[in-house]
Amino acid sequence: MDTGVGKSSIVWWFVEDSFDPNINPTIGTVQHQNELHNFLIWDTAGQERCRALAPMYYHGSAAAVITFSTLKDWVKELQQHGPPNSVVAIAGNKCDLIDTREVMERDAKDYTDSIHAIFVDTSTKKAININELFIEISRRIPSTDANPSSGKGFKLRRETSETKQSCC
Ligand code: GDP
Repeated sequence: MDTGVGKSSIVWWFVEDSFDPNINPTIGTVQHQNELHNFLIWDTAGQERCRALAPMYYHGSAAAVITFSTLKDWVKELQQHGPPNSVVAIAGNKCDLIDTREVMERDAKDYTDSIHAIFVDTSTKKAININELFIEISRRIPSTDANPSSGKGFKLRRETSETKQSCC
């Protein structure tokens, strides 16, 4: 997962509805049918460059958001060592930069279809498809009877100090 492609910005936009990746966000929620899916998001903050740390991020994860650069290596890593049936979503981020597009939509779609992944062109700068990316992930996550919700629509919230879990 190359740095600078916009992973932090995607997570930030999903949680905060804005383009300002200064704080590391952790929770976003998607209402899907009768279930409320809480996304506990681990932003690797560049540590993915150290391969040995990668399992720390994907173990126990139901889904991963990855970008096209170095993608095939990461898909292989997830398929071999990640949780079974992990949902893979590929964000074609910075789609606002039309003139400097590096991966053609057709190539991205062909590849994602071949691995049964989700593909969505996104832009955190122009607020394009970020919620849709997570809604699509939500659709693919197997149903559980847990977390039934009476709420409607789509709700996002940022972790507060009260909801924050201590890690030690
Ligand atoms: P990360 O290293 O993959 O987490 O990338 P960041 O989220 O830190 O973003 C890297 C740079 O790309 C920052 O300067 C962002 O402002 C910029 N950026 C992120 N998303 C977009 C986008 O959709 N469009 C454009 N034009 N720039 C973006």
